[in-house]
Amino acid sequence: MTEQPGIVITGAAGRMGRMLVQAVAESGKARLAGAVVRPGHAWVGQDIGTAMGGPALGVTVTDELLEPMARAQAVIDFTTPELSTEVAAVAAQARAVHVIGTTGFEPAHLEKISAAARHAVVVRAGNMSLGVNLLVGLTRRVAAVLGTDWDIDVVEAHHRHKIDAPSGTALMLGEAAAEGRGKSLEDLQDMTRMQRRGARAEGSIGFSAIRGGDVVGEHDVIFASPGERIVLRHLATDRGIFARGAVAAALWGQDKGPGEYDMMDVLGLK
Ligand code: NAD
Repeated sequence: MTEQPGIVITGAAGRMGRMLVQAVAESGKARLAGAVVRPGHAWVGQDIGTAMGGPALGVTVTDELLEPMARAQAVIDFTTPELSTEVAAVAAQARAVHVIGTTGFEPAHLEKISAAARHAVVVRAGNMSLGVNLLVGLTRRVAAVLGTDWDIDVVEAHHRHKIDAPSGTALMLGEAAAEGRGKSLEDLQDMTRMQRRGARAEGSIGFSAIRGGDVVGEHDVIFASPGERIVLRHLATDRGIFARGAVAAALWGQDKGPGEYDMMDVLGLK
């Protein structure tokens, strides 16, 4: 029997990091090859399972990425744009699949990630759930059918700790709506409507973000015309959907050539 692919989790002490450790351990298709946390974190040197308050998993938490990557075939990374950019270079060197769930990237980060993807598989998606990726496809289709007399708004809600706004998923949905209209989101997006008085521009795509409590993630795409409205909605109630999607992406990437992919590729929705 061939050995199962080894997966390293970065930001293992984070909200998503813990879910990812669990998802790999429960997958039955991959082995946990490393758990990396911030330098000096209290978990360094402990077994990751024990640190998380459960049974031991046989993997010692480290604050050093290079060493576990030497025996891994993939790294799953839901952390910060800065760290994800560093991880991309290390993963490319190791020729390991890099699954990036982090959101909030600036163009300079994305350039570095594209450079790394010349040497290894990078799967990056602002949302790793099957449901949201289907919603992206539906949004593109609905926007392509409806004319600009239908106003489009993306409204999202997330927990109070989320730093970036609008969410990566909201931007994916906005891009899909713009693509459906044969335009780029940059030309249509309206991020500042709340700060201005006056009527909306025809064809613009508006964004609103709500932050509070422990909301896992909610996204509405609203198409409104005089007399009727269509609302496409996705509600996430369990972070496990993102973690399971990320593990599926790490396994999917094992036999692919270097390049940049997203969850639409992984789920066969392209
Ligand atoms: P979090 O703050 O709970 O976790 C981030 C972790 O990264 C923290 O534990 C932090 O210590 C760690 N980290 C940061 N810098 C580090 C470094 N230099 N070395 C090691 N570890 C470092 O946040 P979260 O809620 O888990 O979200 C993380 C990211 O994932 C965000 O960008 C969020 O938007 C994104 N996210 C994406 C999806 C998706 O499906 N793509 C789903 C949920 C969250």
